[in-house]
Amino acid sequence: MRTLDDLDVEGKRVLVRVDFNVPLDEDRHITDDARIRAALPTLRELREKGASGLVLLAHLGRPKGRDATFSLRPAAERLSELLGVEVQLAPDLDSVPDGEVVMVENVRFFGGETKNDPELAKRYAALADAYVNDAFGAAHRAHASTEGVAHLLPSAAGRLLEREVETLTGLLEDPKRPLVAVVGGAKVTDKIGVLEAFLEQADTVLIGGAMGFPFFKAQGHSVGASLCEEEGVEPASKLLGNDKLELPTDLVAGREFNADTEVRELSEVDVPDGWMGLDIGAGTAERYMAAIAAAGTVFWNGPMGAFELEPFAAGTKAVAEAMASTDATTVVGGGDSAAALAAFGLADRVDHLSTGGGASLELVEGRELPGVVALS
Ligand code: ADP
Ligand code: MG
Repeated sequence: MRTLDDLDVEGKRVLVRVDFNVPLDEDRHITDDARIRAALPTLRELREKGASGLVLLAHLGRPKGRDATFSLRPAAERLSELLGVEVQLAPDLDSVPDGEVVMVENVRFFGGETKNDPELAKRYAALADAYVNDAFGAAHRAHASTEGVAHLLPSAAGRLLEREVETLTGLLEDPKRPLVAVVGGAKVTDKIGVLEAFLEQADTVLIGGAMGFPFFKAQGHSVGASLCEEEGVEPASKLLGNDKLELPTDLVAGREFNADTEVRELSEVDVPDGWMGLDIGAGTAERYMAAIAAAGTVFWNGPMGAFELEPFAAGTKAVAEAMASTDATTVVGGGDSAAALAAFGLADRVDHLSTGGGASLELVEGRELPGVVALS
């Protein structure tokens, strides 16, 4: 993969694909600007190396056509504050001004972006002399701004993309052992590939969250009203024989998915009718914390429970705190896992907090990302 070390940018206009897909509240205020901050090293380096101007491309959400709710204006304004230069926002590709830093409106406003339309890629390429992709969170998509345009200009990876790819591929290549993977979250089918990769490469795989229920069901346990993905039961049953796999042995259950619901601790994993398992139990949390403390490397993806609800946050918090205090190299991928770490104030206590959810999972599965391949 070519990096900024391989690209001559002096006196050139550089098109930079960034990942500014930030969460916004109802008033369209940014609630977490981590992704914008993560792009600053690349943007600053390009300016220091004498690029004559930067033209930024980014997406926000999944708009259907041009919809002002999905405007990048809040991101352009925040970037302007963080960089300390004016960032102009160009509404479309025909009106991109010559400024020092210009941001083009949401690329998903343009027909053809997600279809990797070659005509659109050409229009992007016409805006600059070189292309830098720093949007790790979008690198698993072959879109016009992440893949197509990379073939049309001298191109390279930005520093964020470079670090993400190095860290996440290094994880499975030559990790300090024991390598422990902690995998939770909502859906087992999203993460089967990741589980398989870790069951091969890691020493221990700890399961939490709603991920556990297809495994319990396959073992013949009752899952009550728990979130249990039916299509996950068969794939889960195939992984059960692997002795690296560790499942929860106790749970915290609620009547309903809300913070005021009746709560009950279950000393085993059979969930009674009318109850849903919403967190791992205290015994499981202690066991997982010990495994993380004794690890050489830990990868964590997916919360251990419904951490957004206070009564069911303890398991996720235990894992987050173990991640923060272990001597192991710690890597976290996944939007909700990152949000959980941030909510507990521990985001800067891990070695690598990936900015990409889907992209980080595809990389650790050993898949090639189209946005990365295009820079090779
Ligand atoms: P990530 O974004 O880190 O990859 P996921 O998107 O897979 O994580 O899963 C996060 C979601 O899973 C959270 O919204 C959380 O509430 C939910 N979740 C975790 N455990 C449970 C559970 N036992 N029951 C219902 N929802 C759960
Ligand atoms: Mg998620």
